[in-house]
Amino acid sequence: MTKSSVRVCVRTRPTAQFAHDQLIVKPESRTIEVNLKKNPAMGVVNNMRENYTFKFDGLLHNSSQETVYHECMDEIVQGVIKGYNGTMLAYGQTGAGKTYTMSGGTESYKARGCIPRAIQQVFGEVSARPDQSFTIRMSYLEIYNETLFDLLAPAGVIAEENSELQVIEDSKGGITIKGLTVETANTEEEAMNLFFEGETNRAIAEHQLNSSSSRSHCILTVHVESRSRVESADRVLVSKLNMVDLAGSERVSKTQSTGAILREAMYINKSLSFLEQCVNALADRGREHVPFRQSKLTHVLKDSLGGNCRTTMIANIWGESSQLEETISTLNFATRMM
Ligand code: ADP
Ligand code: MG
Repeated sequence: MTKSSVRVCVRTRPTAQFAHDQLIVKPESRTIEVNLKKNPAMGVVNNMRENYTFKFDGLLHNSSQETVYHECMDEIVQGVIKGYNGTMLAYGQTGAGKTYTMSGGTESYKARGCIPRAIQQVFGEVSARPDQSFTIRMSYLEIYNETLFDLLAPAGVIAEENSELQVIEDSKGGITIKGLTVETANTEEEAMNLFFEGETNRAIAEHQLNSSSSRSHCILTVHVESRSRVESADRVLVSKLNMVDLAGSERVSKTQSTGAILREAMYINKSLSFLEQCVNALADRGREHVPFRQSKLTHVLKDSLGGNCRTTMIANIWGESSQLEETISTLNFATRMM
């Protein structure tokens, strides 16, 4: 198998009922073993093996937000400041810790997630480079049922009106979203306020769309533009940092759900499997033959995956016995992305 350009790390969500007998986590060797035979809650399920061994690029077991950031984001942000696009994806079933990883918890300052930490690092890097003049802008996009929503839109127009948003490709393959608010942030504080505004709108949109945000993909993008203050100023570096809280990957039972929920689930399954296809096609066949346009998610990320871009996926798992089937499904997906 070809090594893809995605770095894949698994993060375990701490839980009192961690299934130690069934999920053997070995951070030193970056491996996870799953032993289903010992699972009292599940037994051995149809067409599942009794034993699995997975190995990843990184394994974050009971890790702090700071450690996760250091292991997974720091390098991406450094690349973005130098002009390379970067993408961080949080994958996993609902409840596994994607939003905690990306946005963070509200219990303490230490619990802040990758997005606020990245904003802080971007402005830190900017002030460490007085020779360059930077423009930092932000956008926050939600993709629900293959429709795009602007989370930084002026109040009240999140739903209906801005489903007009459109993915546009320029001649060099650069992606922009027509109609999406891209707001300049002059300071770290302004950037944080935009992030909070987007988070609030995400909660409001949840009501308007009558859907949990775990059924949509949310992409916060930091757009970085820089020019030298000392050399002649025509060389402009442009790059993007995408931080993606993916929709919950859990399978929805056909017998227990209604039409609308099945429809959501179908869109989510398709877009996640197209993401996998694109990552694998990038590794095997080169950029021209990658089916990015198959879904909004992959189309939006087209210029930010593969090539010179740095991409990391954190696969979040919830290691309780009752969640083992989804955990195996997540670890399988994560393995296929490497
Ligand atoms: P998801 O976005 O994948 O549905 P959440 O991020 O909302 O999952 O996490 C589910 C719950 O678990 C939340 O209450 C969250 O605060 C908590 N949680 C998740 N990961 C951690 C962690 N690493 N440390 C502490 N609490 C966590
Ligand atoms: Mg979430």
